[in-house]
Amino acid sequence: MPLCFDLDGTLGHFSAGFVLLREALGELWGTAPTAEELGRCAGSTDWEIVDELHRMRFGAGLTEPGYAAYERACVARFRTTFGPGGLAPAAYAGILEGLHLLAARHAVALVSGNAPGLLAFKAEALGVDAAIPRVGSLPRHGRVDLLRRALAEGPGPHLYVGDRPHDLAAARAAGVPFLAIGEAVPGTHPILAPTDGAERLVASVETLLATGW
Ligand SMILES: [Mg+2]
Repeated sequence: MPLCFDLDGTLGHFSAGFVLLREALGELWGTAPTAEELGRCAGSTDWEIVDELHRMRFGAGLTEPGYAAYERACVARFRTTFGPGGLAPAAYAGILEGLHLLAARHAVALVSGNAPGLLAFKAEALGVDAAIPRVGSLPRHGRVDLLRRALAEGPGPHLYVGDRPHDLAAARAAGVPFLAIGEAVPGTHPILAPTDGAERLVASVETLLATGW
């Protein structure tokens, strides 16, 4: 694994994201899953969440064609909602600048719970260099599986930067250091604010790599 970054809540956020996910499934399934049903999902990746919702609705697991249909419908909604003249995502400018500074020295990758097409759209919307690999949510993969996939495909040093407890859990399971963006993951790891500057991120990452965790 290179230096891996989650996307939502780590590099910025797309405020309407879960509404669009529910609307996309409503288009495919007749009626949208409720917010309460979505809240009962334990997974942190699109495959896990849509699979859980599919089991609640139909009593059977999601198929790969079903996941592909979800991905297409969701990307189309994001393109409309966040396209020209629409909403703009909130970009964490200093964190994004720091990611690109780090990419000049180390291998860097995005490892996100978004379906691959959605991750590609969001990363481009946030201005992430197209040369930085994206590892999005694949069928039958949890977040730690995605991290391990990135680990196998890219050189070290290894690290995961994320904003939620499931990101910390995945980093621990994959055996790599963790750095948090925001206050949602208390612990002894370094914690940066979304508003922090690029130099702070670079210094925190380099210190973490030098000292371990
Ligand atoms: Mg996140």
